[in-house]
Amino acid sequence: MTNSTTATVLGWPRQGPKRVLKRAIEAYWAGRSSADQLHEVAAGLRADAWKQLSDNGIREVPTGDFSYYDHVLDTAIMVGAVPQRYRDAATGELDIYFAMARGNDQVAPLEMTKWFDTNYHYLVPELSPTTTFTADASRQIEHFNEATAAGHTARPVLVGPLTFLLLAKPAADAPADFDRLSLLEPLLEVYVEILAQLREAGAEWVQLDEPALVLDQPAAVLDAARAALQRLGSATDRPKLLIASYFAALQDAFEVLADAPVDGVAIDCTVADNVTAILEHGLAGKRLVAGVIDGRNVWAADLDERLATLRRLAARVDDLVVGSSCSLLHVPLDASKETAVDDEVRSWLAFAREKVLELHTLATALDDEAAATPALERARDAIASRRNSARTHDAAVRAGMAGVTEADAHRAAAFEQRRPQQHEALGLPVLPTTTIGSFPQTDAVRKARAALRKGEIDRAAYESAMQGEIAAVIELQEELGLDVLVHGEPERNDMVQYFAEQLDGYLATSHGWVQSYGTRCVRPPIIFGDVSRPEPMTVRWWQYAQSLTQRPVKGMLTGPVTMLAWSFVRDDQPLGDTAQQVALALRDEVSDLEAAGCRVIQVDEPALRETLPLRSADRPAYLDWATESFRLATSSVADTTQVHTHMCYADFGDIFAAIDDLDADVISLEATRSGMSLADDLQQSGYAKGVGPGVYDIHSPRVPSSDEIRALLEKAVHALDIRQVWVNPDCGLKTRNTDEVRSALTNLVAAATAVRASS
Ligand code: GLN
Ligand code: ZN
Repeated sequence: MTNSTTATVLGWPRQGPKRVLKRAIEAYWAGRSSADQLHEVAAGLRADAWKQLSDNGIREVPTGDFSYYDHVLDTAIMVGAVPQRYRDAATGELDIYFAMARGNDQVAPLEMTKWFDTNYHYLVPELSPTTTFTADASRQIEHFNEATAAGHTARPVLVGPLTFLLLAKPAADAPADFDRLSLLEPLLEVYVEILAQLREAGAEWVQLDEPALVLDQPAAVLDAARAALQRLGSATDRPKLLIASYFAALQDAFEVLADAPVDGVAIDCTVADNVTAILEHGLAGKRLVAGVIDGRNVWAADLDERLATLRRLAARVDDLVVGSSCSLLHVPLDASKETAVDDEVRSWLAFAREKVLELHTLATALDDEAAATPALERARDAIASRRNSARTHDAAVRAGMAGVTEADAHRAAAFEQRRPQQHEALGLPVLPTTTIGSFPQTDAVRKARAALRKGEIDRAAYESAMQGEIAAVIELQEELGLDVLVHGEPERNDMVQYFAEQLDGYLATSHGWVQSYGTRCVRPPIIFGDVSRPEPMTVRWWQYAQSLTQRPVKGMLTGPVTMLAWSFVRDDQPLGDTAQQVALALRDEVSDLEAAGCRVIQVDEPALRETLPLRSADRPAYLDWATESFRLATSSVADTTQVHTHMCYADFGDIFAAIDDLDADVISLEATRSGMSLADDLQQSGYAKGVGPGVYDIHSPRVPSSDEIRALLEKAVHALDIRQVWVNPDCGLKTRNTDEVRSALTNLVAAATAVRASS
């Protein structure tokens, strides 16, 4: 039998080992190195990555997926969609590029937002009717040439034209009725030109990523997609086209791809629906890059099961390549580097490097199973060990889950009955003032944390430093006259990691960096087993803070949905089950806080909106377990105990019903940037519980005047019942400095006082 099946990845992590790229870019920004030095580091990283891929059996390596900041920004540059203000504010290609990415002293950066439902953020291109596109394939060609010069077969990867347009936003000066798709035709001509240039450079295949096809799209968009693929497919002098789409079910878009006059499609075959569609409709002779290895999780795959899927696909399509479901950008580089993780658990992990080995094994096994036997057996052992481990199946946690009743996820009394009881218990004024939780993370806090990590100070010294911070924050809030205080969260490095470190079933990595945006990388914790709480996590800090004041201090926790959203999650049980385990652990914490005397407990869910499934058909089931897990975490408390929640970074319009379903007594929401239009939306949705629409934009160093805050507050009071309204900033104050916070909160309290007096 010939070994003819090949494997490929749709893209690769960019930062290199130990975040080399991040350091090189930041050195350039700081003026410590030149553009040439930066280019050299980057070229070295690319060369190493391609070599590693090809040494491990990937015969066609992706190029052009590398980026100094973001691939959508790179695409904007490639098609010449550079707003004039950036050309005016910087000179030289690289500095214009970085001005768009992060702004400079003359110009603000492009807006940034999440790449589909991942934790990667892209820069939002701006378009208007006057946008003219021009082809600049230089970077693509340069990277392609580097790879071929090193002896690799390379496949340039480009964001596709449709996805580029759909991810862009109208520029500030675009007319209200501007339709981005009106630019499709001229944009396609530029793509045709770029494709011809890549062909001329020697590219046999080019990959165009069109993940926008997995969103619910109106018929007009699908028509546009059809026309676009027609146009690209009919171009002369073009390379073979591989259209890639991933992250969810293609549904109606499947036939658009299957019928298009292109040469190949890369389809996310971790989605069962997509596999069914391929088996039913076939691909009319096209190459299929079958994305059977999940590019978004960190788990070793069940290779027998993937192999079975591949065999069924191989029987249906003519030309099969084994692939990752999406770019491996979203996973860390190398699980073998995690030496602090014990051998058993480490054998369950597959980061980018291990996923390549899996792909190679699958491709080998398709042609000749015997040749892949040792690797398949190792995979079987890992799967069996994970499946049977007491760490993934903790009997006590399972018993707790089995014991959950319907009543556990509901407060004893309805909100209307709770409200007067809380009013009496807390004795707060109308328009109570509060903050979201964190106060500025001072240098002293950061230094103490670093010193603890390096062993320069002991735990006791660290804790007393944190207590000093808490005392200062309590004193400041009393001086400002806030009504419900917070302890300021100095002891938390990060709102998810802090809890993950204290919960069983969670794992921290040492090198598991993934790019969040630009040079910002995060190390998400990994939920590997049943989650439980060995001991109270926040109670002592709260007690200390409360001991310093007569005013109520909020207990402060991160909710189950957010604990999942900013972690790598298990793939061996439904997400809802994992959420329930986290909820039960938090429920114990909530009960302990209450038993310690805490009367106001906030459980943050900033990620509730962002993990909403891409396809609307999948949303009700998600919102069901998401809201239920929040209620399970918070419903053990007495009617007199007030439950708060907080959300930010989102457009809440499509989840008001779910927000109501959380049954929190008070929710604080980001609202300043929208000019308080949120209050009208809340009113129209019939939201009747307590709500603090933010009146201070904490993303900006600007201190709002008390008149500005008052105007926002008056809007809120006008739209809503004054008895509902709370007064608070948009989000935590962690990123601001103490002077800004002091001034802004002084104005916030003054505005609340003024509105109270006048209503
Ligand atoms: N309590 C957190 C804080 O104030 C909430 C942060 C968030 O919403 N992202 O920092
Ligand atoms: Zn927030």
